[in-house]
Amino acid sequence: MTDSRASTTAASPPTDARYRRRSMWLDLIDESLASRPTLPGPIGVDVAIVGAGFTGLWTAYYLAKADPHLRIAVLEKEIAGFGASGRNGGCVSPFFPTSLETIAKRHGRGKALAMQRAMFDTVDEIGAVCAGEGIEARYRRGGYLSLATGAAQLARVREEAAYYHAWGVGDDEVMWLDADAVRGRLAVDGCLGGTYTTHCASLDPARVVRGLARVVEKLGVTIHEQTPVLSIENGKAVTAVGDVRAGVVVRGTEGFTPELPGARRDVIPTYSLMIATEPLPASFWNEVGWNNYETFTDGRHLYIYAMRTEDDRIALGGRGAPYHFNSKVRDEYEQVPGVHATLERVLKSLFPAARDAKITHRWGGSLGIPRDWFPSVGYDKTRGYAWGGGYVGDGVAGSNLAGRTLGDLINGRESELTALPWVDHRSPKWEPEPLRWLGVRTSLAIFASADTKEQKTGKPAGRAKLMKKVLPI
Ligand SMILES: Cc1cc2nc3c(=O)[nH]c(=O)nc-3n(C[C@H](O)[C@H](O)[C@H](O)COP(=O)(O)OP(=O)(O)OC[C@H]3O[C@@H](n4cnc5c(N)ncnc54)[C@H](O)[C@@H]3O)c2cc1C
Repeated sequence: MTDSRASTTAASPPTDARYRRRSMWLDLIDESLASRPTLPGPIGVDVAIVGAGFTGLWTAYYLAKADPHLRIAVLEKEIAGFGASGRNGGCVSPFFPTSLETIAKRHGRGKALAMQRAMFDTVDEIGAVCAGEGIEARYRRGGYLSLATGAAQLARVREEAAYYHAWGVGDDEVMWLDADAVRGRLAVDGCLGGTYTTHCASLDPARVVRGLARVVEKLGVTIHEQTPVLSIENGKAVTAVGDVRAGVVVRGTEGFTPELPGARRDVIPTYSLMIATEPLPASFWNEVGWNNYETFTDGRHLYIYAMRTEDDRIALGGRGAPYHFNSKVRDEYEQVPGVHATLERVLKSLFPAARDAKITHRWGGSLGIPRDWFPSVGYDKTRGYAWGGGYVGDGVAGSNLAGRTLGDLINGRESELTALPWVDHRSPKWEPEPLRWLGVRTSLAIFASADTKEQKTGKPAGRAKLMKKVLPI
């Protein structure tokens, strides 16, 4: 981080409505979204955490549990859960975005497997903590389906089960299901089969992040909302009302990171957009099943994901929103009518029985993609600086693992977690503009056209495979 100031300015006057608009989850939560008090002036603490999303709050949680005497302050520019943590697809994804081969090449096969096992274990950890702390998570451990919804996707999706088996994951953990077996769980139109993993859950992300904020407060952590951090410097977080001096400042700003000075090229803020239907009637669920609340994706290049909510809606999201020059992050980028319309078409083609369903919510948010798709956590003791992030689209579990790992790192405790290969990993910076803009836009266009071509021809599009190697988005 450098000394220069971020362009972040004080938030516009906060209103409950401003925050409810950010996602269906925040809209439907039965609690006030009024802000907690802002930072009154300069303070000194043991740990300052920037960002009250999952990364910041899980870190606060595990630190406070390990040492109740630590003075911990969380600094949040809006409200707890304002970012991706209050908006996401609710899938507690057990996947690590970096391929196991890539991890093994640098750190050995054992470490690659340890990383994958740690992600699997995190799915249960989140459920256990939410249950233990009385967080109304709406957690359901239904597993995850990766479906082939077209001939061109079949080979790709089928490979996934074989891939994990080759890495020693059991066939009782990840398995291939033929079309009938998938239909026994979930009737998706045109599905030709799918890979199923048991290690996944769904939850209501806003209830989890907001509940977690209350839990850490009870543990003695102070959360200052409406408190933008202008820059992070050695051992201090700079705000408009004064410095927060700390033994360590933890950065948990994910998709907003490029707005901080010195961090413009650390991750690309990539918008993922979502829609949700109205609650669907029993006749729909009788036809479709989905009684175990599996989360699912399919094998298209422009990634989609979906879940059944506790109140019987379908929430479905996907990529395709444009990247904005110089990695800008703005509220207005969350509404892209063309992409929301595409998501609606996808939802209705996968579930023809929902063709007349009303779409009640359309929203989006930004997530952080590092240049090498390798998330990381780390603690630089000499600078009094720690971080966690770059989870791509797998941050619900990733951020809990980051929080636990940062807890150990900051407490100076060597553990299985601090030996994981993402600890202290440094990703290369993204290219400067205009190269970054050109590359990301081209990549998105190639994936979109590959999906259209595959739908028409039923044959895999080779250009997309090549592009995924050069610039995965
Ligand atoms: C639409 C969408 C769907 C997704 N679906 C899934 C999914 O199904 N499964 C999955 O595993 N992952 C999913 N993800 C990704 C996942 O939500 C994120 O990886 C995860 O929530 C990141 O948590 P975080 O705390 O690091 O970041 P965030 O939740 O974004 O929190 C960062 C916080 O920092 C605050 N902040 C930023 N800058 C400053 C500053 N200068 N000063 C003070 N505060 C600041 C922000 O206001 C925000 O509250 C999705 C993301 C999106 C956007």
